[in-house]
Amino acid sequence: MVDGHGDHPNESKCCGVVERAVERSREKSERRKNKPQPWIVLKLAVGMTAGILGYAFYVYIGRLCVPMIRDNDGALGGRNIGIPFLIIFCLLGIMTWWTYIKIVFTGPGKARDYTSKCDPPILPANYRWWGSASEIDLGGGPFIPVPQDQQQVQSTSYPHGGTEPSSDGHTTIPSAPSFNMSEHVSEKNKHSQAEENAGVMDTLPPVQRVRVRAEQLNNGSAQPKDIEQGIPAPSNQLPMRYTRKPSSTPVLNPEYRYCHKDGFLKPYRAHHCRACGTCILKYDHHCPWIGQCVGARNHKFFVNFLFWAMWFCLWTFSTLLANVIKMNQNPRNDIDPQQVVIVAFAALFSIFTSTLLATHIRMILYNFTTVESFSMSRMKEREQAVLGRLFKIYQFGEKRRARKQWDTEWGRIGIEGNIWYLGSLRSNWESVMGHSVLYWIFPIGESDGDGINWTVNPRFDKEGRWRPRREWPEELR
Ligand SMILES: [Zn+2]
Ligand SMILES: [Zn+2]
Repeated sequence: MVDGHGDHPNESKCCGVVERAVERSREKSERRKNKPQPWIVLKLAVGMTAGILGYAFYVYIGRLCVPMIRDNDGALGGRNIGIPFLIIFCLLGIMTWWTYIKIVFTGPGKARDYTSKCDPPILPANYRWWGSASEIDLGGGPFIPVPQDQQQVQSTSYPHGGTEPSSDGHTTIPSAPSFNMSEHVSEKNKHSQAEENAGVMDTLPPVQRVRVRAEQLNNGSAQPKDIEQGIPAPSNQLPMRYTRKPSSTPVLNPEYRYCHKDGFLKPYRAHHCRACGTCILKYDHHCPWIGQCVGARNHKFFVNFLFWAMWFCLWTFSTLLANVIKMNQNPRNDIDPQQVVIVAFAALFSIFTSTLLATHIRMILYNFTTVESFSMSRMKEREQAVLGRLFKIYQFGEKRRARKQWDTEWGRIGIEGNIWYLGSLRSNWESVMGHSVLYWIFPIGESDGDGINWTVNPRFDKEGRWRPRREWPEELR
């Protein structure tokens, strides 16, 4: 008996060789991707930054302050201006150096120092993968790919008309995609799954439409065009059947916290940094300017550095620019190119540090990281899109009222709806920046906590799902 492969032994062999080669090159590139950057590449920008800082000192003191102190002709001012300029520059410069050295030499905290290696959690064969387990998805991720018929069941079982899945959803949804971790769910698979899900459930499911369809199915008269007619035209009334739809991904569960690259369970809020090649506690972002990650142990110092670097850059920029302009007004003077270079650098870094500082102050006040902010903005964008479909473009009042109603039902996105929210902006701020104004400004003290254990917002369930207000603890409602 000759089977299909037996007809073309050469082709089969040839394909086998190609497959093995493809597999080998895939493994190779995977290994390359998982390797941390070489030390010299990681620290390159640190040397550059230190060089620019040193050069700024030379130009500012040697080419601006000294001529003023010497009362040279054509200088910006006399000694009475030169000396205060020098003192202010040196104070800001010293603070910038101090905070820079502190942030460069304070590590963010690595998860591997506190966790031991373990096997991936074994999940039942029919385990339902709830969506993205990507390195940057924590709550508010893509909506769950609830099958159409499942949506009908769920939508009718909720008084507010939402399509919230039951917490034991993975046992009651037979047709949901199932994955077995022990069969190696590759990162890539999970990502593409998440992308797919995002496509399916990118917007709030129109529950009314589903209900109408369910009724029609019961009467045996389901027609595709009838389904569309089930959606009433937008009215001024609040659309009760639409509600906020937070992610149902149990982000705190072990299967969502396992790092396949490191081979251990990540503590809450830890994420893998590709540049550093390891998991970082409360990973915020990898900052090339400091040659390492910003995380649990150095987030505070990063903000301290941004604060002083911003004032240093603004001061250097404004005073040096004034000098360049004054020199330009006198036809006998040539423009000093070195001063122009520092003015340009100072302008660039002023914008950079002030924007970054504002962003980080806001994130610390609300207690989320750069990584965690992505899912919140995605959720806001999706809601915006839903409101755009529900109301006409000019119906601002209606949109505001709808959002307000959702906030009443659920709490606000990024505040009550942030899994790490500690109850007030002040407690959020102090948990990171310390409990004294001195700590907020100077690179001393440290953040609360150990970077490993984090208090979960009681408005979330133990698996990390945002609950509606009626399910919150009594005292918080
Ligand atoms: Zn890792
Ligand atoms: Zn890093």
